[in-house]
Amino acid sequence: MGVIVQKYGGTSVGDSGRIKNVARRVVETKRKGNQVVVVVSAMGGTTDKLLEMAKQITDTPSERESDMLVSTGEQISVALLAMAIHDLGEDAISLTGAQVGIMTDDIHTRARILEISPTKMQEELNKDKIVVVAGFQGINIKNDITTLGRGGSDTTAVALAAVLKADMCDIFTDVDGVYTADPRIVPNARKLREISHEEMLELASLGAKVLHSRSVEFANKYDVPLCVRSSFNNSEGTYIVKEKDIVEEPAVRGITTDVNEAKITVKHVPDQPGIAAKVFTKVAEYNINIDMIIQNFSEDGYTDISFTVARGDIPRITPLLDTLVSGAGAREYTIDKSIAKLSVVGIGMRSHSGVAAKMFGALAKAGINISTISTSEIKISCIIPEKDAKKAVQVLHSEFELDKE
Ligand code: ASP
Ligand code: MG
Repeated sequence: MGVIVQKYGGTSVGDSGRIKNVARRVVETKRKGNQVVVVVSAMGGTTDKLLEMAKQITDTPSERESDMLVSTGEQISVALLAMAIHDLGEDAISLTGAQVGIMTDDIHTRARILEISPTKMQEELNKDKIVVVAGFQGINIKNDITTLGRGGSDTTAVALAAVLKADMCDIFTDVDGVYTADPRIVPNARKLREISHEEMLELASLGAKVLHSRSVEFANKYDVPLCVRSSFNNSEGTYIVKEKDIVEEPAVRGITTDVNEAKITVKHVPDQPGIAAKVFTKVAEYNINIDMIIQNFSEDGYTDISFTVARGDIPRITPLLDTLVSGAGAREYTIDKSIAKLSVVGIGMRSHSGVAAKMFGALAKAGINISTISTSEIKISCIIPEKDAKKAVQVLHSEFELDKE
C-alpha cells in the first residue's frame, strides 16, 4: 500500500461532469490499495472571475481581503469533489489549507509555505478516508488566510507529498505532460518521458505554464517523485527527476517563447559609476522584477541601458522612468512591447558546445533579428520581434531535431 498525492487543475474540475470524472479516478486509485490525498484548484476561470469582482470594487484591493476572496474558489471545488466521491461509495473529507495546518509566511497573494503538519491528514487517512485538500492556500501566524501565487496548487500538492513522504505526486492537468515545445505552435513537438528539475525550473520561469516553479523546487529539495500527466486519459506523463537519474542528455531538451515581456531602454545616460545602481535600486523599490539587462557600448561619456520587465508592470514602472530621466540625467526612454523571449533549455549544454552558434545561425537563416541575448549554464535566451516568435520556435525545433527520439 502506498501514499499517493494527486493534484487536479482548474480545467480538470471545470464542471460537474469533470468533477465526477476526477472522483472516479481518485476512487480507482484508492481501490488499488493506496491512501490518497487529492489537491484541487478552483474550477477553471473561477480565480480570474473572483479577481475581476474585486476590480469592480476597487483598483487597489487589500491583499489580505484578496486572499480571503480568491481562496473561496478552491473551497467550492474540494466540497464538490468530496460529495462526488461519497456518491461512488467511498468516504472522503474536504479540508481547507487552515484545517490541514499549512502554515505560511504573511506575504499575502504570494505566500511561502513554512511548515505543514501531517497529523490531521494521517488521522483521516487512517480512518480509510480520501483526503481532499484545497490547493493554493494556507494560513499565517495571525490565522489569516494566505495564497501561494497564481498556479500555487501544484506547490500545495508537492509540499503535502513531501511531509507525507508520498510514493508519488501526480499533477493531473489538461495536457499529457511536458513537451519539447508548445504543440499548438509545433505540431510534431514530442512529449518528454523525463526532464530534470533544473530544466523544468528554467522552462517554468521562461513561460511554460505546466508547473508552478516553487513546486519543482520543493520536489527537488525533498526528493518528491513527481509526474505531470493528463486527467483526461491514461497515457504516461512526464517524470521530473534528478539530473543524475536522467538517461538522455541532448543539448536542447525544450524550447519556449514568452510574449509577456517588454523591453525598456533608457537612452543617453551619463556613463558614471553608480548610474546602473541608481536605476535598478529605484526599480527594486517598486518590487518590479527585472529579467534581462544590457548596458550598451558607451560613447562620449553616455550610454543606453536596456532591460526587460513583465508587460503587466509597465503602468507601475512608467512614473518611475519619468523621474529617472529627470533625476539621472538621461535623455529619454522607450518601451517596446512587441518583443518575445525565445529560449532553448537543456542540461546537455553543460557538455555540448556550439549550441549558441547553432541557434543564432538558424535564426539568421530564417531572417529573424536578435536584439538581446542572455545565457545561463543550461539556457540561452534571445529577444526577438514578437511577430517572429512562432516561426522561431519551429525553426529551432527542427534545427535541434527535437521531433526525433
Ligand atoms: N486557482 C489558482 C489559480 O488560478 C491556483 C491554481 O489553480 O493553482 O491561479
Ligand atoms: Mg496550474
